[in-house]
Amino acid sequence: MSVDSIATAAYLIAALLFVLSLAGLSKNATAKQGLTYGVVGMTIALAATIGLSLHDSTARGSAVVVLVVAVVVGAAFGLWRARVVQMTGMPELIALLHSFVGLAAVLVGWASYLEVERGGLESFTGSLLRIHHAEVLIGIFIGAVTFTGSIVAYLKLSAKIKSAPLVLPGKNLLNLLALLAFAGLMVYFVADPASWPIVVATAIALIFGWHLVASIGGGDMPVVVSMLNSYSGWAAAASGFLLDNDLLIVTGALVGSSGAYLSYIMCQAMNRSFFSVIAGGFGVEAGPSGVVDHGEHREITAEETASLLDSASSVVITPGYGMAVAQAQYPVAELTRILREKGVDVRFGIHPVAGRLPGHMNVLLAEAKVPYDIALEMDEINDDLADTDVVLVIGANDTVNPAAEEDPGSPIAGMPVLRVWEAKNVVVFKRSMAVGYAGVQNPLFFRDNTQMLFGDAKTKVDDIVQALQRVPA
Ligand code: NDP
Repeated sequence: MSVDSIATAAYLIAALLFVLSLAGLSKNATAKQGLTYGVVGMTIALAATIGLSLHDSTARGSAVVVLVVAVVVGAAFGLWRARVVQMTGMPELIALLHSFVGLAAVLVGWASYLEVERGGLESFTGSLLRIHHAEVLIGIFIGAVTFTGSIVAYLKLSAKIKSAPLVLPGKNLLNLLALLAFAGLMVYFVADPASWPIVVATAIALIFGWHLVASIGGGDMPVVVSMLNSYSGWAAAASGFLLDNDLLIVTGALVGSSGAYLSYIMCQAMNRSFFSVIAGGFGVEAGPSGVVDHGEHREITAEETASLLDSASSVVITPGYGMAVAQAQYPVAELTRILREKGVDVRFGIHPVAGRLPGHMNVLLAEAKVPYDIALEMDEINDDLADTDVVLVIGANDTVNPAAEEDPGSPIAGMPVLRVWEAKNVVVFKRSMAVGYAGVQNPLFFRDNTQMLFGDAKTKVDDIVQALQRVPA
């Protein structure tokens, strides 16, 4: 069997493992298995690629050394980042990793163009050469948009720049002009592959990617991260065409299509139109609602919360970003265990975009060993909230904001939310009256059935656990 056919077989196995990986990742219970498939698939793919390079008589020894060094440095960096990253810092890490894929696609596009220019690919003549030129420019375009778009997403998510949308006058027209200019450059480049169109097209794509994400507001960032995930997949697929690598095409298409589908599901969860997301201008249709006097809020202590819970027969916990910041998932799991032992029906209501990345809360709760079957999606629990004795809102804000349903002028108007205010009692755990990620005030805090438990979520849940342990069973 030739080295080429072994490599093809290895690529096929790796592609199948990637499909299995995606299937596994779609459920909590099989996510770990899914990850293992992905790691094994990637190891096989890398080994096959290195093996092919070693056998390529035209490849210089130095190229193989560069390849191996790049793999080792990349793997060491990846392992280190994955070890030290906090769960709350995950979205920005993902955005940063997407930017690497985008940059790689730009570099592959440029390298492929330069190789043809210096006559490296003699088999490319006539229409094949023109198709190659179109591929080069498309690959560079998607890669450059992904690169700068992901960097802006990283800067916004890590609060290094303001998350408010950049609203330039005629921003949609600017985007349209950029696309038309790119299309014109591509037609020119295919006919005459001079270097200036590719330089200008790269610059336009870089600015376009930057502007596209900069003009999206903070509250809509979850969809942007998932969309950039999709773009990075298409950028990898474009590189696959240029490098004549089937595995890269398949993997890129898998990432591209699954990312696009996830973006679509998230748009539905946030009541946004998919096409307005792609246009990069959503999240700014409704202006900020004016300053409204919501009245006074009431406060509650940890001791009082414990007795409220002790006399309840049904409790729903709706966690949010603050639970992740406080690392309160462990005492929350302990509280759940104690209440269930007392015969209280405890369930969790998980909003699709609670926290800072899709599935953030599910991962934290699974880490603290909260049983999967009591962690319900928003749609599964919303109708039960009106019959619930106590809802504990632990570090969540935007995802439980009634203004989304009741105030058409609110920036989050129309976003589906957990209707916690329908419950008999609501206790909100947070440190202050500060706003959440979307920057809007939450009228829930001022409702008659709501009480605020101020302080760090972990400390407060710990206090409640201790108070409950003092109460005789
Ligand atoms: P929010 O960001 O709306 O609210 C979090 C709350 O936690 C704040 O009100 C904060 O109040 C409180 N908090 C912070 N630290 C602590 C602490 N140590 N102890 C107690 N409370 C704390 O979070 P949600 O999860 O409700 O909503 C997610 C938001 O993030 C949405 O707007 C969503 O669109 C956005 N987003 C989601 C992404 C995703 O994919 N899931 C990605 C990017 C953005 P205080 O400061 O007073 O303590």
